[in-house]
Amino acid sequence: MNTDLGHFIGGHHVAGTSGRRGDVFNPSTGEVQATVAFAARAEVEAAIADAETAFAHWSATPVVKRANTMFRFRELVMGEQESLARMLASQHGKVFADAMGDVRRGLDVIDFACGIPHFMKGEYSNNVSTGIDLYSMRKPLGVVAAITPFNFPAMIPMWMVGVAIACGNAVVLKPSEKTPGVPLRLAELMVEAGAPEGVLNVVNGDKEAVDTLLEDPRVKAVSFVGSTDIARHVYATGTAHGKRVQAMGGAKNHMIVLPDADMDQVVDALIGSAFGSAGERCMANPVAVPVGDDLADALVERLVPRIQALKIGPSLDAEMDLGPLVTDAHWQRVKGYIDLGVEEGAELVVDGRDYRVPTQGYEKGFYMGGSLFDRVTPAMTSYQDEIFGPVLQIVRAATPEAAVRLPSAHRYGNGTSIFTNDGDAAREFADKVEVGMVGINVPIPVPLAFHTFGGWKASAFGDINQHGEAGVRFFTKTKTVTSRWPGGIRGGADFTIPTA
Ligand code: NAD
Repeated sequence: MNTDLGHFIGGHHVAGTSGRRGDVFNPSTGEVQATVAFAARAEVEAAIADAETAFAHWSATPVVKRANTMFRFRELVMGEQESLARMLASQHGKVFADAMGDVRRGLDVIDFACGIPHFMKGEYSNNVSTGIDLYSMRKPLGVVAAITPFNFPAMIPMWMVGVAIACGNAVVLKPSEKTPGVPLRLAELMVEAGAPEGVLNVVNGDKEAVDTLLEDPRVKAVSFVGSTDIARHVYATGTAHGKRVQAMGGAKNHMIVLPDADMDQVVDALIGSAFGSAGERCMANPVAVPVGDDLADALVERLVPRIQALKIGPSLDAEMDLGPLVTDAHWQRVKGYIDLGVEEGAELVVDGRDYRVPTQGYEKGFYMGGSLFDRVTPAMTSYQDEIFGPVLQIVRAATPEAAVRLPSAHRYGNGTSIFTNDGDAAREFADKVEVGMVGINVPIPVPLAFHTFGGWKASAFGDINQHGEAGVRFFTKTKTVTSRWPGGIRGGADFTIPTA
């Protein structure tokens, strides 16, 4: 692999010129495997200019041809999903099977984007007044920016890029500087699939690149996923510059466990959803809320041996349940929250801070064992903040009413789940809870690509969700035409079937 990563602008790899670079780690070994250029303002502006040139042609390309490009892109990504997943696992640290899921969930959106002709259809009202017809059409916006987090290096770029490009936009993608390899390869594949050069550009970088995208008047919309403080900045700055912005932020998802729930299911669900991908998922369930002390005691008793038995090691070792955290800096941050939980008086039942990986040669990787806190309270900062690591917190609730109030009261509102056999309780919860995505006996309620994805409260700024029909709405604007004709057929007969 190239260890000197630059940008992908106008269909070509270009080296960075800013002189600023960041390290790309292999979290499994702790080594720097590559460095990545951090774009200066002028480099981002060059990418925007190329995208603007490409937009003129791409937006005029018939929608059926744009769909054909998506079909070819889908085949190309499927053809190399294993090598993409290997690269992803080696930069992010999630295990290979989970990295395959990351690619697959991105491909789901490309499947959706292959059907774009259907979603670009407008409305038509015949004869709204005598001889007058009224119709609407969906138009792409122009150059749009996609800014993505480290934790889904394939899926989240594909959420945005797939829908935006199928709609006829040109994209400048600014992926996470921690995991830039897969987004760069996806851009190469988009060109190979037939998208004209400049339709998908990748600029690597940090705040300077992001702020350039937010301020440049040629960028018409910004789709962002990342942490809440940055999402708030992106939303405020982008909208202040007249752009359409959707900015998804952090999360702290609760799993409510009612006394009638199936305990085997509950324990499996918590272990998978709190610790999978080392807890670095915005739809993880890092808070369990059992109702009643008997249930809480039983849950802790069953969770402890399962957490202690987690197999944690190199991301490409097929035996492992989870790999390392993404960077040492993130490891330190997660450890800081465990230290804080102890200081705040929560009971640390399983402590993952001193975990030592048993695999020889990987001692310097960013591994952390699973941790379990009991008797966490809503007043604790370690409860209010997103930890984003392999840490499960138990908040005991005395009644079902007290349990279901917690996710509604929390400042984040991305996802939540309830485990119960009581249909009425589940239905009431789904109806009333102040959270954007709800699971009923489902631990990670991530909607499929033909529905939409989005949290509430501090988990999302802006009012249009990712992908599905909402994604098409986000990346297009409506034009409505009122039309009156004097009538008459112009031109002669044509005996061949019309084609695109
Ligand atoms: P992050 O906010 O650090 O980075 C996200 C993007 O913003 C990156 O491209 C990064 O380069 C850029 N960025 C970082 N600092 C910036 C600054 N000061 N100004 C401008 N841009 C900046 O997020 P992350 O650590 O990469 O990802 C993890 C976070 O993303 C977690 O909070 C997680 O919950 C969240 N997330 C949310 C969703 C969702 O849909 N709600 C999905 C996945 C991840």
